[in-house]
Amino acid sequence: MSDNCIFCKILNNTIPSKKIYEDKDVIAFNDINPKMPVHFLIVPKQHIKMLSNCDINNQEHIRLLGKMTVLAPVLAHKQGCNKGFKIIIHNDKGGGQEVFHLHMHVMGSPL
Ligand code: 5GP
Ligand code: ZN
Repeated sequence: MSDNCIFCKILNNTIPSKKIYEDKDVIAFNDINPKMPVHFLIVPKQHIKMLSNCDINNQEHIRLLGKMTVLAPVLAHKQGCNKGFKIIIHNDKGGGQEVFHLHMHVMGSPL
């Protein structure tokens, strides 16, 4: 939990969101400004600033990233992406990151 982090506020329900999945480790909710018909974010509950702050020797980071990645096709399919989808992780300002709480974009089209 980090003060002034939008996604931590979504996690503790201070800011509303359209949640599509939650478990003890992660939540997923629709992006407020969708770039494709299906566009949601998978967010670890742990406040990690960005992908490059994850450590190859940290088993919890490896587990969380594995879960986020394996969850993406399950949720994409449930959201109607029957023909495919893509995942994107922006890293730091130069990589287009705007919210500094690690998240995975999952985007696709039901067509
Ligand atoms: P980034 O560029 O950091 O990878 O993407 C951040 C994403 O978060 C953007 O696609 C943006 O539309 C989304 N976003 C920012 N603020 C909110 C919010 O308050 N609620 C939701 N649902 N999405 C948000
Ligand atoms: Zn946060």
